[in-house]
Amino acid sequence: MGRTATAYPAQMGLFQQAEPQQVQILGSPMRCEICHHDLFYQREGKIQTTAMTFFDLDWLNASANCVVCAQCGYVHWFLPIG
Ligand SMILES: [Zn+2]
Repeated sequence: MGRTATAYPAQMGLFQQAEPQQVQILGSPMRCEICHHDLFYQREGKIQTTAMTFFDLDWLNASANCVVCAQCGYVHWFLPIG
């Protein structure tokens, strides 16, 4: 929409990072919501504007942190707070 798009590298591959890594959330090691694995692939993503508009959540139209479980593939989204 009207916002400046985040400049991504040419490759958009989700798993371009070679190694999954531990993720700390507020100082604690994060665990997968589903399988409790503790290694994740991490990338920043752009929340779908159209979906957010549909749900009247335009205020969420920002970049969010996307953390993908290296074991089961469950995607955990983190929104910037404040
Ligand atoms: Zn998992």
